[in-house]
Amino acid sequence: MSMGLPSFRAYVGLGGNLGDVPATFRDVLARLAAVPSTEVEGVSSLYRTKPVDATGPDFLNAVVAVRTSLGPLELLGVLQSIERAHNRERPYRNAPRTLDLDLLWFGGLELNRPELTVPHPRMHQRAFVLAPLAELVSKLPPDTANQGGNPVLPEASAIEAYSQTQGIERLNELKP
Ligand code: ATP
Ligand code: CA
Ligand code: CA
Repeated sequence: MSMGLPSFRAYVGLGGNLGDVPATFRDVLARLAAVPSTEVEGVSSLYRTKPVDATGPDFLNAVVAVRTSLGPLELLGVLQSIERAHNRERPYRNAPRTLDLDLLWFGGLELNRPELTVPHPRMHQRAFVLAPLAELVSKLPPDTANQGGNPVLPEASAIEAYSQTQGIERLNELKP
């Protein structure tokens, strides 16, 4: 990463339930690591969500932290190009997908535009986002650059309770 440019920590949520999802997630890490002005700072474990009111394969989720000098819309563009590389299709809302990349948090920025809302407006209702995000936030050093702050999350016991209710199970580490 070039020195001198301001950089931000962003948290990206990964999800998928079609194909070899762990292999897809490892490819996402490799592609993110190759983005200019961007480095991968950390990765959560892999989490599995059993379909509750739906049929279809289990979902897998994880969260990745990157430090980047890209702007939020540029980073979103990168995420969408990685989704396209994995043949992400959007036939209907909440359809099964090979890969979903959501920008959860971008250096404390609050943005509310149709193409990008950060922090992600639905993350607080989703144990499959909160559990890996809380794990990763707790294992990284606090982000002190740019006074961006860190995501404000429910207490660990509350996340644990949501995870039980929503059927979230922590699996193995996601090694690049
Ligand atoms: P949800 O956003 O509820 O998780 P989804 O991920 O299934 O639903 P998509 O079809 O992947 O929804 O995305 C729809 C649009 O959401 C995208 O075209 C994108 O521009 C927009 N969007 C807004 N905010 C964000 C964000 N924080 N991260 C990713 N996409 C976002
Ligand atoms: Ca999503
Ligand atoms: Ca999405």
